[in-house]
Amino acid sequence: MNPPTGSTRLAGVIGDPVRHSLSPVIHNAAFAALGLDWVFVAFPVPERQVGAAVAGCRALGIEGLSVTMPHKTAVAWLVDRLSPTAERLGAVNTVVRRGRDLVGESTDGAGFLDALLLDRGIDPSGMRAAVLGAGGAARAVVLALAEAGASDVAVINRTAEAGERAAALAGTRGRTGRPEVVTSADLVVNATPLGMAGAHAEALPVAPDLLHKGQVVVDLVYSPTVTPLLRSAEAAGATTVGGLGMLVHQAAHALRLWTGCEPPFEAMSTAAAGAIITPSSYRA
Ligand code: NAP
Repeated sequence: MNPPTGSTRLAGVIGDPVRHSLSPVIHNAAFAALGLDWVFVAFPVPERQVGAAVAGCRALGIEGLSVTMPHKTAVAWLVDRLSPTAERLGAVNTVVRRGRDLVGESTDGAGFLDALLLDRGIDPSGMRAAVLGAGGAARAVVLALAEAGASDVAVINRTAEAGERAAALAGTRGRTGRPEVVTSADLVVNATPLGMAGAHAEALPVAPDLLHKGQVVVDLVYSPTVTPLLRSAEAAGATTVGGLGMLVHQAAHALRLWTGCEPPFEAMSTAAAGAIITPSSYRA
């Protein structure tokens, strides 16, 4: 990457914590592959400063933002307009400059579907899905699955009310369920942090004896790339999909929105895989 000049354009990710984010690695690899004079940086923004950060994005002419925890909901109130998906989710993971306006988008659901369909040829249309978790990622997945034609979307969550709110995103095909519903699902998605390097590294989001051959088991956790859930699913004969594909595809959607360029997916994917932190070097 050449050093920035007076004409270099800037994009970045806001979050707290954010120094561990893979977004700078993925997007700078994309800018380099495309020969774009852009640079992408991580901005640690405490919760109370998110309004100032979005105002700063306007004032400084920053071209685009990725938005991560804990700011996804707050930013939905701070932009000028929302995409239909961001509006339904009440959350934003990407901010795009459109003239004088900042537009809030949500690319997680599209990234999730691309990781299934484009990378693995798995079409969720007609599938019975079980989603573990009801946070920001789970909500994006529930909506995406319903829009992609899943026949049934069961949400299994520790906190009942959050589960009900997430299930409602799938309309008449959404419902909450107990963990046992996993066994009758064609597609099982872990959208909790259980299995993630750090405090939850050894945790399973569901009992392994509920998994079996014929299922597709997706873990949104991408560090480590092979989680305890994916190991159990593989041992049970299920098809497994890790979280890195979704991460890169949601970034690819953001890059397309910011630059108008076709994302260099291989370069982004290789950069992401090379930057995955190992459990021993993980900092929460
Ligand atoms: P979030 O909004 O904080 O939601 C976390 C969800 O997990 C909540 O439903 C929470 O349940 C549940 N949960 C947390 N700790 C739990 C525990 N000990 N036992 C049972 N349930 C627990 O987080 P998020 O943004 O949705 O992210 C969830 C995971 O997805 C993270 O690992 C994140 O890294 C990953 N992710 C991956 C991608 C990707 O591109 N691959 C994108 C986004 C997120 P309660 O409602 O009861 O609190």
